[in-house]
Amino acid sequence: MSGEKKTQKELTDEEMKKFIEFVESMKKSMGLPMVPDIKTGVALWVDQRELNVRFVIGVERLKPFFNGLADGKVLATKCKICGEIYFPPQVDCPKCRKSDVEWIELSKEGTLVTYTQINVKPYSFSHYDDYIVGIGKLPEGVNVTAWVRESDPKKLKVGMKIRLEVVKREPEGYYVYEWVPVE
Ligand SMILES: [Zn+2]
Repeated sequence: MSGEKKTQKELTDEEMKKFIEFVESMKKSMGLPMVPDIKTGVALWVDQRELNVRFVIGVERLKPFFNGLADGKVLATKCKICGEIYFPPQVDCPKCRKSDVEWIELSKEGTLVTYTQINVKPYSFSHYDDYIVGIGKLPEGVNVTAWVRESDPKKLKVGMKIRLEVVKREPEGYYVYEWVPVE
């Protein structure tokens, strides 16, 4: 042993390696790259896309949403005061300027409002074939933007029935929701 002190970079790399291993083990057990912050215990979402820099964002207040996905449900928030429904969920109502919301499960059956095929992909999606992104409207009145499980845009038409499904997307290996044509 040389007894040499490790550089700050080596220490940071080691810490990050341990952290990623922890994330991988949590992902295996719960199907989501979500871990508690070691110091504070708040939930962290660890992005799995192939970026040069991984980003880690605090999702503590949105934890029910991610736990819902792991249960196959898509959840929104509803302001207890004015009744407004938010999707993607938000825990602060901009209308009331209050943070008194409840979590509700969204319906699965919706209507296709619009869609587009993505041919020019952002770098982090470059490993995918061309894909279709669509906006669907749910009976609750909210619009949900998601991938559409159909490779041929000719098979889609505005106004058709679509269903919201939670799937584990590969190769990232975590849960997302997507639209599936039902006609
Ligand atoms: Zn409100």
